[in-house]
Amino acid sequence: DDVPPPPAPFAHRIVTLRSGDVSSQFNLSSKDILGGGKFGEVHTCTEKQTGLKLAAKVIRKQGAKDKEMVLLEIDVMNQLNHRNLIQLYDAIETPREIILFMEFVEGGELFERIIDDDYHLTEVDCMVFVRQICEGIRFMHHMHVLHLDLKPENILCVAATGHMVKIIDFGLARRYNPQEKLKVNFGTPEFLSPEVVNYEQVSYSTDMWSMGVITYMLLSGLSPFLGDNDTETLNNVLAANWYFDEETFESVSDEAKDFVSNLIIKEKSGRMSAGQCLQHPWLNNLAEKAKRCNRRLKSQVLLKKYVMRRRWKKNFIGVCAANRFKKITSSGSLTALGV
Ligand code: ATP
Repeated sequence: DDVPPPPAPFAHRIVTLRSGDVSSQFNLSSKDILGGGKFGEVHTCTEKQTGLKLAAKVIRKQGAKDKEMVLLEIDVMNQLNHRNLIQLYDAIETPREIILFMEFVEGGELFERIIDDDYHLTEVDCMVFVRQICEGIRFMHHMHVLHLDLKPENILCVAATGHMVKIIDFGLARRYNPQEKLKVNFGTPEFLSPEVVNYEQVSYSTDMWSMGVITYMLLSGLSPFLGDNDTETLNNVLAANWYFDEETFESVSDEAKDFVSNLIIKEKSGRMSAGQCLQHPWLNNLAEKAKRCNRRLKSQVLLKKYVMRRRWKKNFIGVCAANRFKKITSSGSLTALGV
């Protein structure tokens, strides 16, 4: 099934941040946390008047920059009316928080779903996922938006069955004007392009590098640049030090390898655009290929290990932060943090 995902349950809207009383309009479930990130937590929530189920991203206002960042996120999401890109419904500011109400998708993170033992991951599945991600990116780029944080965690499944995915998290996205030299110094090491690591000008092709890394991972379960620590990872990126692991890629088609090879290229201008990706033979004739190829990819086992390691790392960081917080509150000073 390669039908496009359903549009959001509401028409695209232009959202403006407003002050308001959240509890009179929305039932926000404090227990049902969908995920957490640098800026806060994402909860399930229902609009009282309509019963519409939504995802509420609660962002703590800690510094002056936080509101500025959220306003950028809203501005970007207002441009993006596409079924593979998560839609924004409302945005409310309270004295301590800003809450973004978004289309809710219930299938969870793509990588979490495909590591399930009951899931039979084939190369055609990967094509279906990558095609949709490219459709979303093509629209974003057409609207002059760079995502700049494309990674597996930001690809969600629409439902627990089927193959439909949507891109989320426009928290680091930027409007792009090719006349202005945009540089950024954020992102997740494993998925960063050499130009970001070098603090050089970014462009549409910066997202395409990350697309290449995600595709490589889907096909193999390996993260091509991951080192023992962030410095090692960043050095691997800078050297564009990657290869197709012979054993893991043994059963992967040459078309797939060609697709990846045309994205993970150090020189920005050498990378395919999202439109070119959609024209690439690997992402075409899917129905025909589905009839011929039903082999389970080896990548599933390795992806499971990758996801488990990531979960462990996240929990470990969470526990460390909680311990540091305990120390601070018991000592009543910031010295416990070494500040
Ligand atoms: P990070 O620090 O990882 O970049 P963040 O603070 O920017 O995170 P998001 O990535 O937007 O926050 O969301 C965090 C998690 O919440 C996601 O990984 C996902 O699991 C869940 N989530 C976010 N948006 C939705 C949504 N619309 N529907 C369902 N779940 C969602």
